[in-house]
Amino acid sequence: MNSPPSYDRWRFVALDEIPDRLKSKSRERFLALTLDDGYLDNMRYGAPVFEEFEAPFALFPYTNALDRVAIEFWMLLQSLLLVVDSLRVEHPSHGVLEFRTETMEAKRAAIEALLRLGGPVDDTYRAVLAAAEAAGEPMRRILDREFLSWEHLRTLVAHPRVTIGVHTVSHADLATLSDEGCYREISEAKTKLELELGTRIRHIAYPLGSTANCREREFRYARELGFITGLTTTRGNVFPHHAESLWSLPRHLISGLKHSADVKYLRMSLNGVWDTPLNNRAVGKLRG
Ligand SMILES: [Zn+2]
Repeated sequence: MNSPPSYDRWRFVALDEIPDRLKSKSRERFLALTLDDGYLDNMRYGAPVFEEFEAPFALFPYTNALDRVAIEFWMLLQSLLLVVDSLRVEHPSHGVLEFRTETMEAKRAAIEALLRLGGPVDDTYRAVLAAAEAAGEPMRRILDREFLSWEHLRTLVAHPRVTIGVHTVSHADLATLSDEGCYREISEAKTKLELELGTRIRHIAYPLGSTANCREREFRYARELGFITGLTTTRGNVFPHHAESLWSLPRHLISGLKHSADVKYLRMSLNGVWDTPLNNRAVGKLRG
């Protein structure tokens, strides 16, 4: 196979290459593209662009969404509010809540208000599911419209530049689970992906991924289950010393939020701004 292309002194590489690249201590700059959660737009909008640049990329869907059995609450809210101009939620402990959601600002405010509601999260989730149904947007329809299916994944996995990884069964906050529950979330997702796709799954992206959501136990399970990398959402570049901690690799977040998708900001991040002690101190000062 030809070596992957290089742009702006960065070489796009597949995740499979990361362990050897780190161990080789090569000075070549490389980056791997990873997309969490399994949104359909990864395929619709992302894949053609990656294809144009011959850039390998990795997708991390969670199996409950692929199976169309459940969707993370905040993902449901986001996808639902994108397509409705108003929402009426009948909540068991908060009564009837009505939101006008014509603008992006109003949609964001409604999401925040619903996520902040007191009481059991399951109650709010059920109330929103019923509201979605009443608005003509049942969960199944939202999943079909916004999320990859097994069929999509089978098409994608046939492509030599696509890697599929584990993002657990239910997008759980692993750190909150028992040992058994945590292990199962990871191992069941891995087994299912391997059976359905007929390929070995060697990478995991921990849901949420911060130091509060995944720690030593999660990294140990990932290693024990045969993954060759584990991806967190801790911000940073990878360096040769990460060859010793392949199951807790940092990443840079690019999303529609704030400045993270700004090219100048991204270039700055890739150039190591967040990794230098000097800047860490400066950021510490700004925060403090
Ligand atoms: Zn996620």
